Amino acid sequence: AQPMVVRAVVQAFGDNRILVSATDESAAQRVEAVRRDFVANVSHELKTPVAAIGLLAEATVDSADDPESVRHFAGRLHHEAHRLGALVSELITLSRLQGADPLSDPTVVEIDAVVEESINRVAAAAEDAGIAIVADRPSGLLVRGDRALLIMALTNLITNAVNYSPAGTQVSISRTAGEGMVRVAVTDRGVGIAPEHTERVFERFFRADPARSRSTGGTGLGLAIVKQVVTNHGGLATVWSRPGTGSTFTLSLPAYAGAEDGRTDAASTS
Ligand code: ADP
Repeated sequence: AQPMVVRAVVQAFGDNRILVSATDESAAQRVEAVRRDFVANVSHELKTPVAAIGLLAEATVDSADDPESVRHFAGRLHHEAHRLGALVSELITLSRLQGADPLSDPTVVEIDAVVEESINRVAAAAEDAGIAIVADRPSGLLVRGDRALLIMALTNLITNAVNYSPAGTQVSISRTAGEGMVRVAVTDRGVGIAPEHTERVFERFFRADPARSRSTGGTGLGLAIVKQVVTNHGGLATVWSRPGTGSTFTLSLPAYAGAEDGRTDAASTS
């Protein structure tokens, strides 16, 4: 446990009044520590591809006489530059999501459209990996939120399911409703996650298997983005997993109750 840090300020006034005010600074200090950690992590994550790009550029120049080597190094340069670009854009996404306004312009979103679009985005990569994506029937379920962000979150989950599964396996997507929540689950028959790691997979830059994450071009931010998107919608992201069996990631979002539940914004102009 963290010790509590209390700052007391004593002010004496000329008319014999004394004002004592105390503030608990431990919370602020914890926030500051998390921020410092994050900056250190970002610096490290950025340095790695930047250093690789420097070395590969040098190697390209040094092998100018050998077209085969030049091609090899140029290919790797392209790969590292792509990774760096992905990392920077995911960092920007995450920092925007953490802004003051959790959802700037919410609308009623059809879950079926989110599922369909997300599958489309991963379809080519899944086919290359020899993985079949299977979805249950359209549900007609609705949530209130940001369609593009929900597609981003579900796309991240399906991409992971494909990346962490062997060829010939299936990724299945299901949508259900109950207790005022809509749930979209992505289940894979992949490598799974060790119990001691499942708690941490939604943390920024946490990777259960850094080598595998690197080889798939992972930034380590995909699930942090998923969690932030769902949090901004007032929902929850959860994981169930067993090593060697597979994983299920579930997005739970408050169901859109419709007009009878008391409309917000546009309807309240009476
Ligand atoms: P990455 O870019 O490394 O995939 P994520 O934030 O998307 O980053 O995921 C964090 C880590 O969680 C991954 O590095 C991986 O170890 C683990 N992980 C995520 N999804 C799955 C999955 N479907 N199966 C097994 N492990 C997973």
